[in-house]
Amino acid sequence: MSDIITRRVFTVSLIAAGLVTSLKGQQPPATGGALEPALIDDLVAAYRILAQQGVLDGFGHVSVRNPRAANRFVMSRSLAPELVTAADLIEFDLDGNAVDARGRALYSERFIHAEIYRARADVRAVVHNHAASLIPFGVTTVPLRPVYHMASFIGDGVPVFDIRKNFGMTDMLVSDTAKGRALAQVLGSKSCVLMRGHGVVVVGSSIPIVVGRSIYLEMNARVQTQSMAMGGGRVTYLDPQEAQKMMDAGENRGYERAWELWKSKVKGQ
Ligand SMILES: [Zn+2]
Repeated sequence: MSDIITRRVFTVSLIAAGLVTSLKGQQPPATGGALEPALIDDLVAAYRILAQQGVLDGFGHVSVRNPRAANRFVMSRSLAPELVTAADLIEFDLDGNAVDARGRALYSERFIHAEIYRARADVRAVVHNHAASLIPFGVTTVPLRPVYHMASFIGDGVPVFDIRKNFGMTDMLVSDTAKGRALAQVLGSKSCVLMRGHGVVVVGSSIPIVVGRSIYLEMNARVQTQSMAMGGGRVTYLDPQEAQKMMDAGENRGYERAWELWKSKVKGQ
């Protein structure tokens, strides 16, 4: 078989697999370099920990910025979090293009991660989840506030993103760059942003921090709801100064102790 025919056969088989069409005529972006094995290990653990802790179910995702390339991040292919392994991880650029998708389905909401990494140089890990306990705080006028010290990272408030405001009637998903950018703008400099009728995005400077924040944010939502019910709406929240002092002291020691525990519980799964 001549080279030309070989190439043609190869191209046709790629089109058949849907690979060429998915790139819309563009070349895939170049890799920013492989992640360290320890970081891959932590990212896989993050998916499984958040599933085990009831923060993620069949939906939601975690990503980490590539430490070697600020304009690349890594997350799983479209897959239930509890099933994620190192082989499922895919690298993306900040336009949401996969470096090496190999025909695998992608999370449609990867633009959440892409646009936050673009907007926030300090963010190195992002979680998106649909925890039901958080939803009331996005659909009522009751703000999510810290009721205990483990949620001191929301002492400066939690903004609410309403996709309807800029985009009218949608399927509620942040499934392109424009929607991701609008979400990142509402997040601003905060540690998380609620999404009306949908869920939340939590950001942090490391995987243990973003996982810890996601777990305690969900707990805080439950405890706040209980406190409001018991207290007839009158609740003593952390003062912003108390929350700030907790943050200055190292935000739950970077969740290091808990991270070790959470990780050991998902090992070998
Ligand atoms: Zn979602």
